[in-house]
Amino acid sequence: MKLHSTNNPGVTVDFKEAVFNSMPQDKGLYMPISIPEPDREFIDRLETFSLKDIAFKVAGDLLQGAIPHEDLKAIVEEAINFPAPVVKLDESTYVLELFHGPSLAFKDFGARFMSRVMGYFMQEGEKTLNVLVATSGDTGGAVALGFLGVPNTQVTILYPKGKVSPIQELQLTTNGGNIRALEINGTFDDCQALVKQAFVDKELNERFRLTSANSINIARLIPQTFYYFNAYAQLKREGKEDVVFSVPSGNFGNIGAGLLAWKMGLPVKQFIAATNTNDTVPQFFKSGLFEPKPSVATLSNAMDVGNPSNWVRIMNLFADDPEALKKVVTAASYTDEQTREAVNTVFDQYNYVVCPHTAIAWRAIADYRERSGDYDSTAVFLSTAHPCKFPDVYEETMAASIQIPDQVSLLQGKPKQAVELDADFKSFKEFLMK
Ligand SMILES: *Cc1c(COP(=O)(O)O)cnc(C)c1O
Repeated sequence: MKLHSTNNPGVTVDFKEAVFNSMPQDKGLYMPISIPEPDREFIDRLETFSLKDIAFKVAGDLLQGAIPHEDLKAIVEEAINFPAPVVKLDESTYVLELFHGPSLAFKDFGARFMSRVMGYFMQEGEKTLNVLVATSGDTGGAVALGFLGVPNTQVTILYPKGKVSPIQELQLTTNGGNIRALEINGTFDDCQALVKQAFVDKELNERFRLTSANSINIARLIPQTFYYFNAYAQLKREGKEDVVFSVPSGNFGNIGAGLLAWKMGLPVKQFIAATNTNDTVPQFFKSGLFEPKPSVATLSNAMDVGNPSNWVRIMNLFADDPEALKKVVTAASYTDEQTREAVNTVFDQYNYVVCPHTAIAWRAIADYRERSGDYDSTAVFLSTAHPCKFPDVYEETMAASIQIPDQVSLLQGKPKQAVELDADFKSFKEFLMK
């Protein structure tokens, strides 16, 4: 598999290099040079395959031999070991539940696959890989749990003290093994600044093999295509073939993966990009101008992104032609008030609790139907996180009806293991060096 930078088609690397470097020097993002042609026979028989079958086939098509079949199969077996069911809410509305992994968010697909791909490439007697992650909550949990027990890797997670939810803190601090948590007396921005400084520190880089395992890594994007194919397979079994996906979007990796699946031949009718008030992309659909801005805090905080990095990948899939893009994608943004309203309406109508991110994707379906007149397609909204991760959003009766998954109850008895540090680079470096 060869990849090139979105900024410079002349810069090409192989898969291993793209995985360890995350980002090309020219600050573009890696994209596959050639996207596999649709495999008609596979798509026509999609309903006969399991999630793991699909994952193995799609990953194999994309990687084009970068990892030999048997090894890729083992990686998929281990990484994609939880389901992604579509659940019917009414005749034409389904929810794709992506929160059944260890950290209860869709980021588990990306983090588990990437960690095992990295672990695989490390096996040739190389230096231990040191992963440094700053997190405001969700990413850290997925990365920590994704790398837990992966050989030759050590993960250090920095999180702002008192600023993550109780469940998120459990996920970050109860792992032990190859995962260390640092509780930083500061903000998320302080955590991120420490990590960034570590990456440019000469001594640290001589001593360790550092990587950020961040969300723009191509190895996180690839596994997110699997569940689009698999959702379509499930709907086909129910006789539904005209499908619209509504995706709660922040950094636009999730919907980017959906569009990659579409490019590989998945016959999706329309994608809806649903955002909170961080509406850089919906504005682009209106004005034609992509104008990043500082992010603002909302209820759906994992989508508080003012400059979505994966947008360049999406434009790349459409050869930078906004008109081609608009035939397949629409976009809309929603306020916190509309988000709360949507959470309540979904509960009243379906007795189903959605997290605030998911609520936005549900809300966008109604608008899409009204705008386009397309009431016949089956609309699927992606549920990106389990509602128990956001306890403050719900009224009492709704909160009481949320079932706490085993992943959380299992953590609850475990002791917190975190080292508290001030937000200064000297103590962070000392901690890493010792
Ligand atoms: C990360 C995240 C999102 C946004 O996904 P992108 O791929 O960044 O668009 C949405 N919902 C939840 C719960 C998340 O953790």
